[in-house]
Parts: sequence; structure tokens; C-alpha cells
Amino acid sequence: MHGYDLLVVGSANADLVIGVDRRPAAGETVLGSDLAVHPGGKGGNQSVAAARLGARTALLARVGDDAHGRLLLDAQRAAGVDTAGVLVGGAPTGVALITVDPSGDNSIVVSPGANARLTPDDVRDAGALFAAARVVSLQLEIPPDTVAAAVRTSAEAGARVVLNPSPPAPLPDGVPALCDPLVVNEHEARFLLSDDPAAAGSSTPEAWAAALLARGPRSVVVTLGAEGALVATADGSSVRVPSPPVRAVDTTGAGDAFTGALGWRLGAGDDLETAVRFAVRVGAAAVTRPGAQASFPAAEELPEPWGEV
Ligand code: ADP
Repeated sequence: MHGYDLLVVGSANADLVIGVDRRPAAGETVLGSDLAVHPGGKGGNQSVAAARLGARTALLARVGDDAHGRLLLDAQRAAGVDTAGVLVGGAPTGVALITVDPSGDNSIVVSPGANARLTPDDVRDAGALFAAARVVSLQLEIPPDTVAAAVRTSAEAGARVVLNPSPPAPLPDGVPALCDPLVVNEHEARFLLSDDPAAAGSSTPEAWAAALLARGPRSVVVTLGAEGALVATADGSSVRVPSPPVRAVDTTGAGDAFTGALGWRLGAGDDLETAVRFAVRVGAAAVTRPGAQASFPAAEELPEPWGEV
């Protein structure tokens, strides 16, 4: 029995945000705005995005036994995520210290904290979650060994693997071939292809997708911001899916909303192109409101389907 449409394995962070007139130089102190604390981390963002849309979603992650950890657990539960797989303790909750200047530019220091202590043993102990999931979605804010173990465990359990290699890092051996799809934005595509300057330097997402497919994934989705996304599969087909036109106010978390929605729709039985046609509507809705998790839409808030052929 599949109890979950989607299991997200990944990070959960508290984002600590302060507005500043300008960044401090070394040895300098500046005054900033009141502190704002937001739930974040790519794993936690994806699970909230999916659950808010109605997906039966579980999260496998690690937080600290502290106030930030409790805040993150509360945010997951409020969105409807099953948090039985969220482990507590071992290190402080991961945090991102973010300063935002008047032009909107961010400077960020991440302390991975408990995210760095999510281990392959934790994956092994969570076997029942993998067995209950149709789709498992991962990113790269947890240790690479843990990602590799989770991808292997997913494949053994017969779950479909969705991987967003973000922040960009080399993929562990054996991982690319099990991704269906690998979900990348332009920056991540160019990073993964950096050992192939001709492919990385190519200007078309079709060329990146073809070069990435040659590394083994069964399918590739390239997200293209306001342009939507490209879907490419190992049989050589590729199709562009346009995003609904919206007035973007803050693109933070758009990729996480897109990928969480995509994982859900694949778990619900959609084919990849249909799932991407849904996910672009979720990504578009997320950019119309400020913040990450706070901007993620419920199903009834989505823009109408767009660009159907
Ligand atoms: P990331 O946030 O990982 O850089 P993208 O910027 O490509 O990823 O955004 C992910 C998805 O969010 C896009 O595929 C698209 O569906 C949606 N999106 C992002 N920016 C916009 C925008 N300005 N207008 C409409 N949709 C957007």
C-alpha cells in the first residue's frame, strides 16, 4: 500500500532575515531591521508545497532539539506534512543568516547544523517511509552519502526518484541513472556540464537536456523562470511548457514549489509532461507573493492552465 504520494528527503532550515542599509565590512557593526524568522530549507519547502496542494506527503529530515526545530516542525504540520520521519537532535537546527540590502540583494551564511547529521543509517531506519511512497524527491542540502543511500533505497522500494541537484554539487556515483526526472535550472545545468565546455556553453536548454540525458537519467526537466520549463526524455523527445504570465514579486522558493508539485503529480499518476504543466502553474503562483513557504499556493489559488496544445 502506498500511504504517501510523495516522500521528501532533505533539509529543513530556519531562515533568519535582517534588512540592512549596507553590509558590514570586516570588523564593523551595522544596525539592521527587526529579525524575521521563516521556515525554509529546500526539503522542507518542497514538502510544504506538495502538502498545501493536497498531496499525502512525508518528510525525512533532521532538526535540532531547539526552538528553531520546533518552529520548522510546526510549519510542516500546519501545511499537512506527516512529520513522523523528522528526526530531532544531534546538532542545532540548520539556519540561514540572511541580510537583505535596499536593492534586494541577499548575503547568506548557511549553518547546515542537523541537516549535516542526517546519515545513511537514518535512511536505513526509515525503510517503512520509502516502502510507503510512490515518489521520493531529493535535493543536495544533506550529505552526499545520505542522498546516495536514499536514492538506492527508493529504487529498491520501487519508488520513482526526483532529484533537484541544488545547491549544485557533483552527483554521487550511481545516482544520475536512477533520476526520473533530474530537475535543474540553468545554473545547475551548466554546473553539472562544466566538464563538457561545449555543452555547458550552449545557449539552448534543449542542448543542456540532451547532454544531461547522456549521463544516464531517464528524464530531465530544465526550469526556465518566467519562460516555464523544458521536459526531455531518454527516447529523444523534448517539449517546452510555458509558464502562465504573472506579475513576479519574489522568486524565492519558486524552484522548490515547482519540484514539490511535480513530485506530487507524478505520485498521483500523471505522465511527466502533464505533471510539468501543473508544476509551472504552482511555480508561477509562488512568485506572485513574497517569501518561500508563505508564498506557496493551495490548489484553488492556482492560475488557469496555460499554453495547452
Ligand atoms: P529556481 O527558483 O530553481 O531558479 P526557476 O527560476 O526556473 O527555478 O523557477 C521555477 C519555476 O517557477 C519555473 O519553471 C516557472 O514555472 C516558475 N517561475 C519562476 N519565475 C517565474 C516568473 N517570473 N513568472 C512565471 N513563472 C515563474
